[in-house]
Amino acid sequence: MNTARLRRFIGDMTSLVGGAWQDRDEAAVVEVGRKLLGELISHDDWLPESMAECPPHGYAQNLLWCDPFERFSIVSFVWAPSAGTPVHDHRMWGLVGMLRGSETSQAFTRDAATGLLAAGKATTLGPGDVELLLPALGDIHRVTNALADCGSISIHVYGGNIGGVLRHTFDSQTGTPSPFVSGYTNRAMPNLWDRSAEVRAQP
Ligand code: FE
Repeated sequence: MNTARLRRFIGDMTSLVGGAWQDRDEAAVVEVGRKLLGELISHDDWLPESMAECPPHGYAQNLLWCDPFERFSIVSFVWAPSAGTPVHDHRMWGLVGMLRGSETSQAFTRDAATGLLAAGKATTLGPGDVELLLPALGDIHRVTNALADCGSISIHVYGGNIGGVLRHTFDSQTGTPSPFVSGYTNRAMPNLWDRSAEVRAQP
């Protein structure tokens, strides 16, 4: 397991949010973050097994890392066959990188007066693809596993502690919002910092 890749990504993201984010330059954070996530997911040898286990139904949202100041979080999103999310928002920037398999994101816009949802663009991601979510551009979508097996995993990076903030799901027919706090599926985070085996292996 090449955990070094994930450690490096965490370090790079921490530097990024310590610089550009401090300046409130969201555009710079997502532009550079997108490249960093693209690099991370161009390899599939670093995600701990326990964070890649197929759930019995629906999807698992495993917290891989949360910045100590909650400026960003990293999640592995593991799909059961043909599962889907409700229509939901995020209320913070997000980057979705496809590690394995495929998923489809159906965007919606919501009419401010009637609250009704209108379907927008549908984007299907394959391995190596990164999708950007920005509240300023509309961040309401529904995501489905494009595969009928357990093969789909995406890695998400958000501009906050995504599992611990209040957001919304929406009734797909009426657009009526409901409060939603997603939480996380895993009770324990992976130990990314045990470097003993590599140190012992050094001559
Ligand atoms: Fe989402």
